[in-house]
Amino acid sequence: MSSKTLVQFLTKNLNELRNQGLYNEIDPVQGPNGPIIQIDGKRLINLSSNNYLGLATDERMKQAAIMAIEKYGVGAGAVRTINGTLDIHVQLEEKLAEFKGTEAAIAYQSGFNCNMAAISAVMDQHDAILSDELNHASIIDGCRLSKAKIIRYNHSDMDDLRMKAKEATESGQYNKVMVITDGVFSMDGDIAKLPEIIEIAEQYDLITYVDDAHGSGVLGKGAGTVKHFGLSDKIDFQIGTLSKAIGVVGGYVAGRKKLIDWLKVRSRPFLFSTALTPGDTGAIICALQLLMESTELHDQLWKNGDYLKRGLKKLGFDIGNSETPITPCIIGEEKKTQLFSKRLYEEGVYAKSIVFPTVPAGKGRVRNMPTAAHTKEMLDEALAAYGKVGKEMGII
Ligand code: PMP
Repeated sequence: MSSKTLVQFLTKNLNELRNQGLYNEIDPVQGPNGPIIQIDGKRLINLSSNNYLGLATDERMKQAAIMAIEKYGVGAGAVRTINGTLDIHVQLEEKLAEFKGTEAAIAYQSGFNCNMAAISAVMDQHDAILSDELNHASIIDGCRLSKAKIIRYNHSDMDDLRMKAKEATESGQYNKVMVITDGVFSMDGDIAKLPEIIEIAEQYDLITYVDDAHGSGVLGKGAGTVKHFGLSDKIDFQIGTLSKAIGVVGGYVAGRKKLIDWLKVRSRPFLFSTALTPGDTGAIICALQLLMESTELHDQLWKNGDYLKRGLKKLGFDIGNSETPITPCIIGEEKKTQLFSKRLYEEGVYAKSIVFPTVPAGKGRVRNMPTAAHTKEMLDEALAAYGKVGKEMGII
């Protein structure tokens, strides 16, 4: 027996979403999530994953995971503070600190979890958070969970941030004020203006928090957005995910030792949720080692990103103002965007439409994420499909 009110609620709202073209179907991928994937038996060029460096399917990573499973088994067995901390978790955190150039680091089970954990461990109802309006959902939810006053500033608008930082600090209403931003904004591929943010933070004594989910492995020769600007000692919280360029799963905070010590006793997902699995942990350590040893994958990613961008632009598409390999193709209206993506699928390209509420209404796009694992032939094949569908739909 299910509740009548619940069934009515679900039916009404699901129908509404479907009618507005806002309900995205989920397609199971049959096999590895590499540059070529198979869905429903169909071969597709995959331009929709965050597997930026191709590490999710890399042989060296698989071997590292297998070795860790052989040694430790498949599960950590408990939360970190009970007896779930294996020595491999400690090695991972030491590697993360080395990778980010900080005193210490703490790992979480996902990037989403990490933002929920870190923000609410430090900020409370007597504080304020200045948050870029385009920050990721996990940042927004982490801010809400903290109960701090959330003050949104216009996207990357430094005058607006300065004015709001001044107001918040001079009001005397708040104990602490934090500024929080994505390092790279995933829907447009633009980079946060960290040097200006730091200057404002120093002027108003703001705590600085950068979520570099899409910058790590991509900018700063792989080390991330903070390193890209040479600001490693100026950011209090360097957040990242281990699920995108690193190719596995998990999240982390890198920063000063005192901050990490605090998160180990006060962040709830660390205290109450089971640790990363040994296999994941072994593979992540392998990825960090690979990134610190060579920039080969990073360089290939940029080469592929530039190639795809040039190709799409030449065809006449609006690719926005991306400063990273993330390449949006802005179509506009939601239904048209979804139809465009569907036609690309039929032509053998998997590039998902992203529509409201993930991006503002009327700014629907097909977002392309080239990776280091794509070949020039694959990208040419994708560009040919873009050209064909774009002309057919009168977009170019
Ligand atoms: N932060 C940002 C900026 C993200 O883009 C994402 C993933 N889309 C996350 C956090 C969440 O990371 P994860 O997938 O590892 O939970």
